[in-house]
Amino acid sequence: MAEKIAEVVVVGAGPGGYVAAIRAAQLGKRVLVVERDQIGGICLNVGCIPSKALIAAGSLKERIERAGKLGLKIAGKVEVDVATLVGWKGSIVKQLTGGVSSLFKRHGIETIAGDAKLAGPGRLEVKGKDGTTVVQYGDAILATGSRPIEIPGFKFDEKDVWSSTGALAPSRVPKRLLVIGGGYIGLELGIFYSKVGSAVTVVEMLPTILPGTESDCALVVSKSLAKRGIAVRTNAKALGYEKKGGALVVTVEKDGQKEVFEVDQILSTVGRRPNSENLGLETVGIKPDAKGFIAVDAQRRTSAAHVYAIGDVAGQPMLAHKASREGLVAAAAIAGDKSAAFDPVGIPAVIFTDPEVASVGLTEPQAVEKGYTPVIGRFPFAASGRAMTRDETEGFVKVVADKKTDVVLGVHMVGPDVSELIAEAGLALEMGATVEDLASTIHAHPTLPEVVMEAAEAVHGMAVHIFQPKRA
Ligand SMILES: Cc1cc2nc3c(=O)[nH]c(=O)nc-3n(C[C@H](O)[C@H](O)[C@H](O)COP(=O)(O)OP(=O)(O)OC[C@H]3O[C@@H](n4cnc5c(N)ncnc54)[C@H](O)[C@@H]3O)c2cc1C
Repeated sequence: MAEKIAEVVVVGAGPGGYVAAIRAAQLGKRVLVVERDQIGGICLNVGCIPSKALIAAGSLKERIERAGKLGLKIAGKVEVDVATLVGWKGSIVKQLTGGVSSLFKRHGIETIAGDAKLAGPGRLEVKGKDGTTVVQYGDAILATGSRPIEIPGFKFDEKDVWSSTGALAPSRVPKRLLVIGGGYIGLELGIFYSKVGSAVTVVEMLPTILPGTESDCALVVSKSLAKRGIAVRTNAKALGYEKKGGALVVTVEKDGQKEVFEVDQILSTVGRRPNSENLGLETVGIKPDAKGFIAVDAQRRTSAAHVYAIGDVAGQPMLAHKASREGLVAAAAIAGDKSAAFDPVGIPAVIFTDPEVASVGLTEPQAVEKGYTPVIGRFPFAASGRAMTRDETEGFVKVVADKKTDVVLGVHMVGPDVSELIAEAGLALEMGATVEDLASTIHAHPTLPEVVMEAAEAVHGMAVHIFQPKRA
């Protein structure tokens, strides 16, 4: 049995683990990373990055098809060469994961390929191809991430029934695609497939798509799905499927009635579950909650001494940038920074649908629940010169502020490039900015961020480029 000693051992090399490892090394620690699959985790290999590559290609195709309105005539159809598209996506993944591996090397971070399990305080066992390695560690950071939830009747075989992973490596564009689950992953991928030629149906068990998303923003996406011809069945439960001829016949129950859909491909995206099983947690006295999440404090310490948890395994929201920030905090805490703490006030959430949705901070109902008297400012992209020049005028920016103090409590947006615009709102929340701060920041013209500024002005009834009747 091989033995190793590490000041810090990190289990999992996703955006939580690899960021934590690099920061711990920057702070002078001797770091060992254990990864059972691929460096980069879900995010770089089969999550954020590959999905955004496909989505970017689908959006470019659609823009080219719409360019006639701008006087740009395209001869012929835009054809999709699936193998080239998937290859291009793969090349981006390779560059990024190769970059992480090279940073590991340059920081002197050692990696072991294998499945890690805690084996009592200060001890970790790694089962790899060549046997077991025992690691004696000073501090451990668990960054084991999550995996897709499988529902009865729809076992992932990545042939007939795709998980998101299968949908990111297609061999063809299915003619008819049924997406089970109207959350962000299902809709992002469903819209991509619609753009490249699939007839898409989305089945969602809850009464609305994008559960948990600011309701006005979700409504804009709902309308856009309808305009694209994507059929959405809400309050509908997918029960199972059978193969008939070359087709997949899916049975769905909606309002007590059975409905049947004949499709060529099923994509099941009903949520993700934390990877906290078989980790030896019991050997250090950690008990995950009923959903499998590991509880942590502000420094991402678990209930066990010298064991930290970050990323998807440490609770919602399951987002890459939340995992990375937690990684930085845990590494700093291990290196002795007593002020290091994770502040959840400004975690942006972006949905790369078309139009995109981005949110940070409290919605209006959440602000009321927390005892604030919220005031709202809203400005539409339809009144933005920049949005018009891009021929993308759908959506709005909404600022939620505290009436008493003028402090920005939340910003919610749906429309063009809001995935980029949300950064300014995140900074506003992080700094405890007021509406006046946002409104009096001089924004370059003509740009989309002017819409954020005008939404802030609208909180005070002073937006210049829309008419706001005087308030009593
Ligand atoms: C299709 C898709 C699109 C997404 N898009 C976005 C997006 O646009 N933006 C965003 O913020 N988030 C997105 N996410 C979510 C994002 O990928 C996750 O929140 C993020 O990857 C979590 O990071 P993590 O470090 O906690 O874990 P992961 O990235 O899941 O990495 C965990 C790693 O730990 C390894 N591991 C697990 N157990 C062990 C063990 N016992 N021993 C050794 N290694 C182990 C795994 O192999 C894995 O590599 C998306 C997810 C999917 C599936």
